[in-house]
Amino acid sequence: MCDTTPVMIVHGGAWAIPDDLAEASVNGVKKAVCAGYQVLLQGAAAVDAVEAAVCMLEDDPAFDAGTGSVLNFDGEVEMDAVIMDGHDLRAGAVACVQNIAHPVKLARMVMDKTDHVLIVGKGANQFAKEMRVETVPTEKLVTEEAVRELEYYRKYKSTVNSLFKTRDDVLGHDTVGAVALDCMGNLAFATSTGGISAKRPGRVGDAPIIGCGGYADSKVGGVSTTGHGEAIMKICLAKNIIHFMEQGLSPQEASESALRSMAERVSGSGGVITISNHGNVGKHFTTERMAWAWLKEGQMHYGLNPGEDFVTQYSVQ
Ligand code: ASP
Repeated sequence: MCDTTPVMIVHGGAWAIPDDLAEASVNGVKKAVCAGYQVLLQGAAAVDAVEAAVCMLEDDPAFDAGTGSVLNFDGEVEMDAVIMDGHDLRAGAVACVQNIAHPVKLARMVMDKTDHVLIVGKGANQFAKEMRVETVPTEKLVTEEAVRELEYYRKYKSTVNSLFKTRDDVLGHDTVGAVALDCMGNLAFATSTGGISAKRPGRVGDAPIIGCGGYADSKVGGVSTTGHGEAIMKICLAKNIIHFMEQGLSPQEASESALRSMAERVSGSGGVITISNHGNVGKHFTTERMAWAWLKEGQMHYGLNPGEDFVTQYSVQ
């Protein structure tokens, strides 16, 4: 039955986004939220909407996912992605996958076509081959910024600790994510990332881990996260937000509380987007910036800097 007002929210990663990427990041999330919302308006499932929105963000070189992914210490691209359907808690994820343009689509295939939840590395690429997913040469996914970033971070011993903390971190990463509530009242989320610059080969972050990089339960809410993956995993950031919402906090209060607790307990920073099963929205970040946009009842809200909330009318793209 189609009696719920659809809601769509996306993020383009929480970090110290430099000024020269600011406009591209905001435009990218605005376009992606419209793409997902359009899918919802056609009466499709939330899981289709988050896949469509994240695919668009993976194609956008302004973001660290698909094309635009950052490089690991060996100069290779290793990507993580996840998708979850809050209707029945089905989920699919891939980690350390290489040479494909849309890791989120492969995550969807893990969910729809296997008995597993997470497939990594060689196995993930083998699965992609079986599914006849087209491979792309690494060069197609790599941007000049990603190469510059690797050179910059190779100078640091501990990337994860330097990336998310100071305001001087002008180079970084921007994982993408989406959460949707469809007209049947179901929630879904998807998150996709190239991870963090100069990570060890084989490093897997929070993104593909259910409850960390996101969670969707149509009885409570949906969440997608971004930020310091090692910190996010330690406190299961997404599931924590769901837990706070179950205790009666609004999506905004739950998002703020969980990020506060991540800072206090494990000194980590990041960002989150959240929708409750009632269609209320939350978004919060403890990094310098995060590009985000959400759409409900034809009105788009978006922002980049703390405290921003611009509103504009949705128009069919
Ligand atoms: N959470 C991602 C990771 O640690 C990075 C990010 O969100 O920017 O892999």
